[in-house]
Amino acid sequence: MEKRICILYTGGTIGMVPSEKGYVPSSGAFLDLLRAIPDLYWADMPRWDVVEFDPLLDSSDITVREWNQIGRAIAARYDDYDGFVVLHGTDTMAYSASAISFMLENLSKPVIFTGSQIPLGQIRSDGRDNIISSLLIAASGQVHEVCIYFNGVLLRGNRSTKRSSDQFEAFESPNDAPLAHAGIQIEYKKRVLRPASSEPFRLQPFKELPIGVIKIFPGIQFDYFESLMTDKLKGVVLETFGAGNIPGSAQNALLPIIDRAYKNGTIITVCSQCSQGAVSLGTYAASSALRRVGAVNGRDMRRTDRIRNSRRSIASAGISVSEDLVEFRARRCEIKSKSMLSGGFADRKHTKRLASVSFSRSARKACTQSRRSPFCQKSTGFFDSSAPAEAQLRRELLRDAVIFAERGPAREARRRWAGAEDK
Ligand code: ASP
Repeated sequence: MEKRICILYTGGTIGMVPSEKGYVPSSGAFLDLLRAIPDLYWADMPRWDVVEFDPLLDSSDITVREWNQIGRAIAARYDDYDGFVVLHGTDTMAYSASAISFMLENLSKPVIFTGSQIPLGQIRSDGRDNIISSLLIAASGQVHEVCIYFNGVLLRGNRSTKRSSDQFEAFESPNDAPLAHAGIQIEYKKRVLRPASSEPFRLQPFKELPIGVIKIFPGIQFDYFESLMTDKLKGVVLETFGAGNIPGSAQNALLPIIDRAYKNGTIITVCSQCSQGAVSLGTYAASSALRRVGAVNGRDMRRTDRIRNSRRSIASAGISVSEDLVEFRARRCEIKSKSMLSGGFADRKHTKRLASVSFSRSARKACTQSRRSPFCQKSTGFFDSSAPAEAQLRRELLRDAVIFAERGPAREARRRWAGAEDK
């Protein structure tokens, strides 16, 4: 039966036209250009419809609001189509693909983000191939997750990042092999593609919660940041030195900020600026303040020998970096809740027992789909078996931590972690 794909056109270079101020998204001309591509009507192509967003945006203007709109647009048409292609600007495409991958739970259909470096209406545009191949991939029946297709490769959405502003090869996912290569044939890496979910599809919109990112640098004066720590700020991502170290920790320079954050219930997530190595709060006195407040850290997601060995296991289990972060949080308490992998904090049945995590049913199921899954070997060993640490991973972590900070109920979870840490 002929497949039906819904194209969601949100804006981006692919549909832009020159203006006095530079490139701007355009509506009518783009749709005419799209409809004039003969390949899009060949027998092998699926049937497609276009839903155009209003207003069309340069993706640097995309916010949580637009993520929710994209999510809702897909959810509203989920039963009517076999897959979705999201035309999106490249600047924040990786953020959006990551966010949407957590918003759309239990996917059994593909959502393929794509765009272009040169507008479709200009000579040598890469948009034509990106759209055609994305449609074919969306109709292939092989993909059941949120991906980015660009310049011949299909990447897992929440492991991708923009790498170039002027090359056609604009995206990469250095810690995970591409899910497919589009050469003469489109070759799918079936071993790493996520299977279709058998659970009912669900939309989990994001809340527009204010969060912030603080990049630590030598000589940073924390007191200037104190005023930012209002009770409106729900999450802060700290990009720290080395193993989670911050200047002036011994003198408690960060304490006023932490104190305010604690009182306000703001979650502090710690990432390292290092391209390799782990966040290890408390190893140095310089990170002890962060440890005391139960900041979320990414230590075991980084480099160990086992990390390298089981990198593929993680990919084939379909576990993303962001899910790792949930696990980190969960590690503070024994948590029995199905919401653990769905991006929420498990709010039910907490007990204050450290280093013991009962993995949710869906987590176990996802992991046992990979024979080499670290979950299968040792249920609490997950963090020792993650992807190798590269600068890339750090960026992914940071991005995902940001997304997480927007999702988590702060105060209660944090109070519990702090309590668990004290024991
Ligand atoms: N500024 C554009 C955007 O992100 C860049 C692009 O699409 O390539 O919308």
